[in-house]
Amino acid sequence: MSLVDDLYRETILDHYHNPRNHGCIENATTSVEGVNPLCGDELTLYLKVNEAGLIEDIKMNAHGCSINTASGSMMSEAILGQTVERAKEIIESFKNMMLTKGEELPLDEEMEDLEALRGVKKYPVRIKCALLPWNTLLEGLETAGAKPGLSSTLSDSK
Ligand code: ZN
Repeated sequence: MSLVDDLYRETILDHYHNPRNHGCIENATTSVEGVNPLCGDELTLYLKVNEAGLIEDIKMNAHGCSINTASGSMMSEAILGQTVERAKEIIESFKNMMLTKGEELPLDEEMEDLEALRGVKKYPVRIKCALLPWNTLLEGLETAGAKPGLSSTLSDSK
């Protein structure tokens, strides 16, 4: 049962059972879907980025394993209220933590809970579960930057 002991720590379970910022945003500026076929994780991420480049709202609808859901929940807390620029830095440090084999940079203070996911590194197949929300967010932020008028396109297509 060592896998359960290591992976399903209290913080992860808490985020899994009570995912933060769960749901969708009606007037999102960007929505993007992510899939991890290896595990069957699926999620849709909604972002509301204002003209100043501030992430005013982030919501996620995840149908995945505990690692995927918990990682997305922690990510939403770390990202909400940040600028797009800062969000990209946070994504970068998280990916660095999960993918670097040698010495790791310490995480910033708004990423405290994410330390809980460090144990996932021992199970390489689960790293993809933990990274899915982050890669999806990165894609969403690129889209948000590239298409400032996307919000009107989204509401037109309803
Ligand atoms: Zn998974």
